[in-house]
Formats: sequence, structure tokens, C-alpha cells
Amino acid sequence: MSEPSSSQGGPQDLTSLAVDRAVASNTDNTNASPSPSPADLDASKTTIELTTKPRSVPLPNAPEIASVTTATDHMITVHWTSESGWSAPKLKPYGPLSLMPTASVLHYATECFEGTKAYRGHDGQLRLFRPSRNTARMLISATRIALPGFNPDELEKLIKLLVSVDGPKWLPRSAPGTFLYLRPTMIATDPGLSLHTPLEALLYIILCPFPSTLKASTPTKPGLRLLASREDSIRAWPGGLGFAKVGANYGPSVLAQGEARQRGYDAVLWLFGPDALVTEAGTSNFFVVWRKKGEAGETSCLELVTAPLGDKVILDGVTRGSVLELARERLVSPNAPGHVECLRIVERSFTMKEVEDASQEGRLVEAFVAGTAYFITPVSEIHFRGTTIEVPVAREGDKDQSMGPYARLFRTWLEEIIYGRKAHKWGVVVDEAPGAVNK
Ligand SMILES: *Cc1c(COP(=O)(O)O)cnc(C)c1O
Repeated sequence: MSEPSSSQGGPQDLTSLAVDRAVASNTDNTNASPSPSPADLDASKTTIELTTKPRSVPLPNAPEIASVTTATDHMITVHWTSESGWSAPKLKPYGPLSLMPTASVLHYATECFEGTKAYRGHDGQLRLFRPSRNTARMLISATRIALPGFNPDELEKLIKLLVSVDGPKWLPRSAPGTFLYLRPTMIATDPGLSLHTPLEALLYIILCPFPSTLKASTPTKPGLRLLASREDSIRAWPGGLGFAKVGANYGPSVLAQGEARQRGYDAVLWLFGPDALVTEAGTSNFFVVWRKKGEAGETSCLELVTAPLGDKVILDGVTRGSVLELARERLVSPNAPGHVECLRIVERSFTMKEVEDASQEGRLVEAFVAGTAYFITPVSEIHFRGTTIEVPVAREGDKDQSMGPYARLFRTWLEEIIYGRKAHKWGVVVDEAPGAVNK
């Protein structure tokens, strides 16, 4: 997770230095603090109170799933105070939280979260996908927003506990190939209205039924249509919060997202700086496949290009990292599988002008977004300040007209792991709680 910073001496280094330091001290139990030292997060202390009012699982097309307004029967909550540290976690019935109106999170966005999924495999097993990536990232996010640190392995155990209790009923064995959305969240519950480092916090984990596919705006035409962000609407900047999943990044993006939707686009393509660097799309990382200018088909691979992590402007997506790893492992050799040309993997800043040029010169091969929510979804169009760039989705005669061959390969390879068709270290099996309801 510790990506070296690409530049030296800028304000972004102060941020990353502070975050790295805080992460180290947050996980360092030998830290000299007044005794008795505050307790670390400890999943083994969890108390369990099962619901007496189990709800029925909504049908896949229920409105509450489309709006993601409900969750499974249970949730996990853990309180923290600066004096005592983490209290014993509770697995208890899902329900409202109680907060003072002065609570820090309500005024100062002292909040961070994670997003991942629990899957029911075709082999009947429940799985998580690389959960340690999410728990490590949550620690980085918490640190950036002055929330308390914790042992990420204990958070992973709590996530597995919730999935093991609610998974059997909410992801029945009779419906393989389905998933629930997991949302670990941390908020500062500190009731002090003065702006300060929170002295009280709440960590909670909820598990939500989620739409099986997020629909593109034009159902007849495959692929997402993206609206490039305006010059006066910037998601993240060096030295800011772009690398952290903190609520403060997302509330302010809703205005641009709303405008995009109103104009018939699916998501915003976030640009940065006077050169219109391409960063991310909505809450997904963004990839293009193009042929480099001046290179011919027989002599060189295509390029798979995505924005770099070094300046900490974009989120270090688990899906992004997995796509890059799979590409490096399987697609860089000239004998790549799946009847595709080999790829050269390029993590660097790139501009909208480069995308436009590639399109005009017929070198643009494919573009897709990658993230937990949209998974791997092709992009068919980018509207950039007055011009529309058409992105090829599938070529005439391709067997699969719904997405290009690279998006298809990554999607297939990830699905094989997630749904247990191929054994892989990224697919982490969750044991089901004995006696859990399995209807
Ligand atoms: C969550 C998120 C992503 C995707 O990350 P995954 O770990 O792949 O789900 C990408 N960009 C932003 C801004 C995000 O919030």
C-alpha cells in the first residue's frame, strides 16, 4: 500500500509523511502512552445479540434494493474513546444510531468508510475479495481524517463474522453468483462542537442488498457515457484527500454527478489541472487501451494506461490494483490469451488531449472503469467541454458486442475468482456460522 511519492518537496509529501507516521503510531502497540494503554480493536471480545425480528429478504427488483435503503438483519458496532481505546465489539440487530447534535461527524465530516462485497460462489461458498486491502486502506483513511487507528486484521475478522452470520440467509446457496455490499464505516461521535481531534468514535459494519448491475443511461447501447468535469469542479488535488475514502470527498461531488445525470450521462470523468489530466470516473478508477503514436501492430503491444498513485490524487482501488496485477501476469507476453494483442502496462499522468488525439487518429482501442460498485464496465463516450469522443466498445464481428475484449477478459478473470470458479489467493472463503438461518 505504501506507494513511493513521485515528487519530492511538494505539499503532498507533508501529507503523505504525516499519514505514514500516524499509520505507524496507530498500529504500534508499544507506543509510550500513559498506562493502562488504550485497548486495541479485538474481534475475540465480540458479544452477539441476534435479532428477534428477522426480516424477509427483499426480491431482487424491490425498490429498497435499487435505492440501497435497507441492510441485513445485523450490524457490528464498536465504540472508541481516547482514554479506553476500543470497547468490546457488538454484533446486534440492525437499527438506527444515536448521536448528539453536536457530534463531530455531523459538522466536520470526520468520517471514513470502505466499500467491498460478500459473494455467494458457484461452488456454494461465501467469499470476500482481498479484504485485507480494504482494511489497510480504511486505516489510511481514518488516519487522514484524525480518526483512531486499529489493527486491520481485527477489522477483517469482524467483517467475516458479520458475513458468516447474515450470509447464509441473505446470500442463499440457492442463488449462486450473487453478492451483498459491505460498508465498514467510522464516524467521530465526539460531542464537542469545538474543532479538535475526536476523542470518541464509532466503527460500524453494515451489509446491504445492492442492485445486481448499475445500469448505464442508454440501455440500448452498451457502455457508460462520461461527462468530463468542468474547470471549476475539482475532486481532489495533491496534498488533499483524493487517496482516502473519506466522506468529505463524496458529498461535494454530488453536484457535478447530478448535473451529469441530468444531461443524460452516467458519471463524471474527473479531470485535474490546466492540462486536463484524466484521474478517475465517478467512484471508479479509469483505464484506456490505446496504440502508442507511431507504433505498428505487428511490432509492439498496445498500452493499458491509468493514472498513477504517486501524487495521492486518486483512490488506490482494489479493483484497479487487481486489473494491473492480472494484466502484468497474463497479458504482457506476445502470446497473450483470449485472442488479444499483448499489453504494455503504463501508470502515468495522461491528458484529455492524448485521449482525443488517440481517438482522432484511430488509435483508441477501449476504455473502461474499474471499482467495486461498477465492477469492470466499458465506456462508450466521453463528453469533454464541447466535443464528444466516441470510444470503441466492440468491433464489428466481435462475438461479444457488450464490451471490448480487454474489459471482458478482466471481468471474466475477476468473476472466476470472486465466485469460486478458479481457486485463487484473492478469493477469501468465509465459514458460515453454525446454526445460522439458511432459508
Ligand atoms: C472506492 C473508489 C474506487 C474503487 O475502489 P475499489 O477498491 O476498486 O472499489 C475508485 N475511486 C474512488 C474515488 C472510490 O471512492
